[in-house]
Amino acid sequence: MKKRLVQELITVCLVFVVVAASAEGTPVPVAPPQAQQSVQVLDPAAATQAWLATVPRDQREKSDAYFEGGYWLTLWNFLLTAAISIFLLASRISARLRDFSQKMTRFKTLQVACYALPCLLIVYVLSFPLNLYEDFFREHQYGFATQSFLPWFRDQLTGLGIGIVGGTILLTVLYTVFRRAPRTWSIWGTGVAVVFMFAVVFIAPVFIEPLFNTYKPLTKPEIRDPILAMARANQIPVKQVFEVDASRQTTRVSANVAGVLGTTRIALNDNLLKQCTLPEMREVMAHEMGHYVLNHGAKLLTYFGIFVLIGFALTHALFDAAVSRWGSKWGVRGIADPAGLPLLVLIFSTLVFIATPFINTVVRVTEREADAFGINTSREPDGMAKVALKLGAYRKLDPTPLEEFIFFDHPSGRARIRMAMDWKAANLPTEESAKP
Ligand SMILES: [Zn+2]
Repeated sequence: MKKRLVQELITVCLVFVVVAASAEGTPVPVAPPQAQQSVQVLDPAAATQAWLATVPRDQREKSDAYFEGGYWLTLWNFLLTAAISIFLLASRISARLRDFSQKMTRFKTLQVACYALPCLLIVYVLSFPLNLYEDFFREHQYGFATQSFLPWFRDQLTGLGIGIVGGTILLTVLYTVFRRAPRTWSIWGTGVAVVFMFAVVFIAPVFIEPLFNTYKPLTKPEIRDPILAMARANQIPVKQVFEVDASRQTTRVSANVAGVLGTTRIALNDNLLKQCTLPEMREVMAHEMGHYVLNHGAKLLTYFGIFVLIGFALTHALFDAAVSRWGSKWGVRGIADPAGLPLLVLIFSTLVFIATPFINTVVRVTEREADAFGINTSREPDGMAKVALKLGAYRKLDPTPLEEFIFFDHPSGRARIRMAMDWKAANLPTEESAKP
């Protein structure tokens, strides 16, 4: 589901879906830290360093390179979105698509759909090269991808189809708001965006995710029963845990809570089942249950609603200023004119880009809450440390505080291991916590 412009159009929505997905990674051979064996009382700082020291230098360099490459990709993706938007405006392709839509039909609502369809296709084609590099070649280069080109491309087309349907529905509704409330659209538009996000999260587990992967109930009682026991202990109304065949696309370990209200589902992926021990799985699943118990879906929807409201208010002012200056040159007549869509995307994606550290921080803080819930529920500090190292295959383990603030939407491996060791030192008897 990585269509650039569509992604920008429903950026926050996708961020929200991504938030629902949590821990991922590839196997890293993990040895218990030897440094702890000689000490009587666990020193959390030393224990954290000992865990980090178990990762071989070449693996650390590889995962740092992969993750730092992601910093640049954030920039390239933004610049590409900006370049495509400016190109569609300056070449008047956007204005011509609007003229075309007006010839096709008299109905304003259908005109938006007639504009959106070719526009989204053009954007997909123009952003395909970067998409191909980021999602296919780069993932293969680092050994995370498991798909050959054709199955990958089929998933891309599926994502494109979802993006076009979802994007067209969202744009049709938004432009109705623009026509009816040209002065106050930022307020009503925020309402539309929040309802849209809620709807996507609600239908995703039932209608979207099955298009990419198969979900089936986890049947192994030795794994299922301890997980369901934790769910019962926390009043989570699930009767089964699902297993998803993520190995179709990737070697990463992951688990997620998806859906909202009646569609909530806890799932772990087959890589996790193959690569992790039961203590590690309990810890991961307790983290996911934390998202549920702490009501993170509703909280994130609220936070993103506030971000969108501020973003739309700023977009409103900047859009009007740009149209009064360049509107005639680009053939854009006002907010209700679909030809102005690339300008809206240009402004909104710039704001999202600037807000990246704040969006990441809101998500990261939420993830940290789920970590705290996870360690208290699973009581598996060593399992948590081992999982953090496994996730370190693709997420920089020991970043600077500034890096973590700007780029991390989950706590770093170091932060997670430190939480686990602090918990271990505080909660287990002395002899017990001193054991590796
Ligand atoms: Zn999480």
